[in-house]
Amino acid sequence: MKLLVIEDEKKVASFIKKGLEEEYYTVDTAPNGKIGLEMALEGDYDLIILDYMLPFKDGLTVTRDLRSEKFAKPILMLTAKDKIQDKVECLDAGADDYLTKPFAFEELIARIRALLRRAENEKSNLLKIHEFSLDTQSHKLHVGNSEIELTPKEYSIFEFLVRNKNKVVSRTRLTQHIYEYQFDTDTNVIDVYINKLRGKIEPYTSDEVIQTVRGIGYIVKD
Ligand code: CA
Repeated sequence: MKLLVIEDEKKVASFIKKGLEEEYYTVDTAPNGKIGLEMALEGDYDLIILDYMLPFKDGLTVTRDLRSEKFAKPILMLTAKDKIQDKVECLDAGADDYLTKPFAFEELIARIRALLRRAENEKSNLLKIHEFSLDTQSHKLHVGNSEIELTPKEYSIFEFLVRNKNKVVSRTRLTQHIYEYQFDTDTNVIDVYINKLRGKIEPYTSDEVIQTVRGIGYIVKD
């Protein structure tokens, strides 16, 4: 999952980024509302974390602009304000949830997970594919009672393919999903990860779980 953090306080932004990366999310940051709005509309983000007080364009305006551009992904607003009226204003502008600063990181993570589950219309944290199940909370891959150890990038790639099952996912899209904005990466890196993933899951199945679509990318079918 790829998230965008729009926050002008560098310390807060890097604290959130670091913590979320430890939870296997790919995270970009934007230093103000104007850049944040552009990145949110151009990038393929699964969720936006947005500060209320921002230079150039405040969080409320960014939220309204995103929603008027038909941006449909969840928006979580961070606010130092804790008056009922301010919270109502955030939600009315189109935010899905808000968190009052200072907040406990555990709560931020839990709210993000809940918003992503809701967005994907999932009741549980388990994604099933063939004989495998992915736990989107613990980021573990299981087959029967065994756990298959995956690196964070391998897990992210597999989860992305499973979430997009029955659709061809291009190498470029996979690269954009697991790397940060402006991260200059050769899409061949994806093939290396896919080979490692296949090497780990193939001993447990007779199915070809991750199929290559020549010249384009990969597909995971039901
Ligand atoms: Ca701020």
